[in-house]
Amino acid sequence: MIIQPKIRGFICTNAHPEGCARQVGEQIRYIKEQPKLNGPKRVLVIGASTGFGLASRIAAAFGFGADTLGVFFERPAEKDRTASAGWYNTAALEAAARAEGLVAESINGNAFSDEIKQETIALIKEKLGQVDLVVYSLASPRRTHPKTGEAFTSVIKPIGGDYENKTVNFMTGAVSTVSVAPATEDEIRQTIAVMGGEDWQFWIEDLLEAGVLAEGAKTVAYSYIGPQITYPIYREGTIGRSKDDLEAKAHQLNDLLRGKISGSAFVSVNKALVTQSSSAIPIVPLYISLLFKVMKEKGLHEGTIEQMYRLYADRLYATDTPVDETGRIRIDDWEMREDVQSEVAALWEKVDADNLGELADLEGYRNDFLHLFGFGVPDLDYAVEVEPNVPLTRS
Ligand code: NAD
Repeated sequence: MIIQPKIRGFICTNAHPEGCARQVGEQIRYIKEQPKLNGPKRVLVIGASTGFGLASRIAAAFGFGADTLGVFFERPAEKDRTASAGWYNTAALEAAARAEGLVAESINGNAFSDEIKQETIALIKEKLGQVDLVVYSLASPRRTHPKTGEAFTSVIKPIGGDYENKTVNFMTGAVSTVSVAPATEDEIRQTIAVMGGEDWQFWIEDLLEAGVLAEGAKTVAYSYIGPQITYPIYREGTIGRSKDDLEAKAHQLNDLLRGKISGSAFVSVNKALVTQSSSAIPIVPLYISLLFKVMKEKGLHEGTIEQMYRLYADRLYATDTPVDETGRIRIDDWEMREDVQSEVAALWEKVDADNLGELADLEGYRNDFLHLFGFGVPDLDYAVEVEPNVPLTRS
């Protein structure tokens, strides 16, 4: 099959197996170039196939030399349809990890369900015995509650009033004003049910009960804060409410794990990056394009893999994990630096369709977006036939 990108709005509906494999290879190469890490040898990553979860898994496997188990929801190839990017990413990661003698196993299914939790526990028992680190990195638009069966949908909306600001269509470069109506109470409740901390809590409780969390095990989930400009749509909106819930859960889980296994639970506040999830949020892609411009100029730019290396090396497995006044790990520290934020804010005031190319790193955004699906990879000939059917196997 000849595979070229099929893009609709902020979604790419296909993926390139070789391009995804190269992207994973790049992340592995980066980790191998860093000083080796001392830390967990058995790691479970929930949401392991793309974005921060994929980078968490790669950094664990090739930084710590850890055996890994990844849980995700991806689509295999069908007759005339490619697999999803996370499927190809995982196939490449598993092959590379196994080539180094590491255990790398995956479960493809709905992580919110009790069935997948039990399947994961059985696989941990079979292949790893226990785990020392659980990374929780799910991003999903929907969740069905495993106990009540209620189906929830998350929305990205402000709370309390309309929010209007600039936004960009990152594929065309068109800048426009977007106005988003406020969420209803029920939409807030549903978004918290999808993206809040309840499912993380269910995972940790089930893993504990099954005895598969090793003494001293840690767990980490990811959050975001961002700048004032995006507060109404992000931190003070529906998604922000779910992050408040996730962060509150971290304290409860920390108490639970400390009491039971001398373990700990953290939330890490990460940098804004181009992932399948963040591309879907209005206003954010324009902010990210301006942020990239400023951070690249200052030599501060990081992608998911650089962030995850720093999370493990300088935070989670540092002698004392540094946290902010509310107990959160901050690896958004460079994004939130005052000089970075004041420059981004000044650019935000000025940016429009005419000066976008000059003020924003739209090309960087677009490239990162295409790379998520294995497209735009230098030296890869997209006119060549490639086999879309790549199996995921048990070792
Ligand atoms: P992503 O879309 O790249 O990854 C989501 C992962 O969740 C994938 O592995 C996907 O397969 C998996 N998943 C989704 N639904 C699932 C289900 N029902 N069952 C099993 N797996 C499922 O997202 P991301 O941007 O890497 O986000 C991960 C976390 O990081 C989120 O909590 C997000 O809020 C947070 N975060 C993201 C950013 C950013 O800028 N992208 C910044 C800070 C924090």
